[in-house]
Amino acid sequence: MREVKHWIDGQAVSGKGTHRLPVWDPATGEQQAEVVAATASEVDSAVASCRKAFPAWRAASLSRRAEVMFRFRELVDANRKEIASLVSAEHGKTVADAGGELARGLENVEFACGAPHLLKGGYSEQAAGGVDVYSILQPLGVVAGITPFNFPAMVPMWMFCNALVAGNAFLLKPSEKDPSVSLLLADLLRQAGLPDGVFNVVQGGKEAVEAILAHPDIEAVSFVGSTPVARHIYEHGTRAGKRVQALGGAKNHMVVLPDADIPAAADAAVSAGYGSAGERCMAVSVVVAVGTAGDELVPAIAERIEKIRVGPASDPDAEMGPLITGEHRDRVAGYLDSSGADVVVDGRTADISGGPGFFLAPSLVDNVTPESPFYTDEIFGPVLSVVRVDTYDEALHLVNSNPFGNGTAIFTRDGGAARRFQYDAVCGMVGVNVPIPVPVAYYSFGGWKASLFGDLHMYGPEGLQFYTRTKVVTSRWPDPATSQVDLGFPKVR
Ligand code: NAD
Repeated sequence: MREVKHWIDGQAVSGKGTHRLPVWDPATGEQQAEVVAATASEVDSAVASCRKAFPAWRAASLSRRAEVMFRFRELVDANRKEIASLVSAEHGKTVADAGGELARGLENVEFACGAPHLLKGGYSEQAAGGVDVYSILQPLGVVAGITPFNFPAMVPMWMFCNALVAGNAFLLKPSEKDPSVSLLLADLLRQAGLPDGVFNVVQGGKEAVEAILAHPDIEAVSFVGSTPVARHIYEHGTRAGKRVQALGGAKNHMVVLPDADIPAAADAAVSAGYGSAGERCMAVSVVVAVGTAGDELVPAIAERIEKIRVGPASDPDAEMGPLITGEHRDRVAGYLDSSGADVVVDGRTADISGGPGFFLAPSLVDNVTPESPFYTDEIFGPVLSVVRVDTYDEALHLVNSNPFGNGTAIFTRDGGAARRFQYDAVCGMVGVNVPIPVPVAYYSFGGWKASLFGDLHMYGPEGLQFYTRTKVVTSRWPDPATSQVDLGFPKVR
């Protein structure tokens, strides 16, 4: 069985642990590799390597750090096909979808190339007589990233590009379900000129995560994953004195007003609901149809579902792949027996050409009540729920009273209604006729409520803020002739 190795000090190294985790091929349902989960002592060695590499990397000029990012960008671009194929092979998403993930990841590399501009501090001349005050942004030291299975290339890039360009050393703990792409990215960073030890990878699951949270030499932890784990990471990481940003799960509502272009809204709901088999934190999982919108919208979505080709990534015409594991597929399929909704399309009954892999065709459920498990749970699969309400206010109430607040969208032709929604929605990211409003890399990504624990959003300007701390210097070059003892509190006027 192929072992997915760790990456320490610029090379792949075998694990020494005894706990083995399977890496499945979701398209065939067979195991294709295994992760030998890192032990606490292996995490400790990886952190020691980062710690050793940090001082020299911190001392490297901003231009030198940016230069590594420029080279990394070219290498990722040149290896797009190989990276996308590796993502598809372990995650199961189509190669085109994996290419889309990579393109959005590359935006973060490009942002980091220009980060020296944003790492400038401020300077106030003559804050008091002969006194200047200025601020400096300094790296934190060793920082760690713990990432989910659903974007094995993009989410690590959300984190490490900014962390590295700011002068930190970075330890990545990728998802154990699709871990191999992390090693390819590590090797490309090495080829780009990143010194050994500045970027290390430990493979594994819970035990490695606990070792990261407890490690005294890790200054900050970035996490993306499900809400229960995000909450745990935030509570334990902050208790250990670390800076933590922990992004959690979602239940993204797409509100469709009766005046919307219904065919376009149906296209958007299907694309955002079933793309990547619904395994996106920004997937639309609830359509809130206002007034008469549902009467035309539900049949339009059902009609589009029939045409979606489900199959393995090796099928160039496949639009939707399998789910990540058999266990997850069965869990998602199990929801279709829940009460509190009418099943319009049941994906369990579809004839899938994909074979024995972890496939489940798209499902659509209508008249979902807010108490139904279809509504209360993050299903994280190709099951789209439709809730019908009479008014905009009822739709807004659903969005705002939901415990999650990652993304939401409104579909309408009424600019005033859209403006009101963007003002009213208690949610971190809002789309206006855009179903998956993932911000571009020069803004920052993050939800509200149970979708994010911490203060700063991820990537973009807030990402750089997360990976740096500010030092303020107050400086005077006095004339020795005027020096005197003064026990009063320093005044500026
Ligand atoms: P997950 O929470 O199961 O795993 C995420 C990471 O945490 C993995 O590296 C995993 O090894 C580790 N982990 C899992 N269980 C753990 C435990 N008990 N203790 C310590 N560490 C643990 O999430 P997943 O299934 O890989 O990803 C899907 C979830 O991620 C969904 O809930 C999705 O909404 C969320 N997600 C959120 C965002 C966002 O930006 N908010 C983005 C992508 C995914």
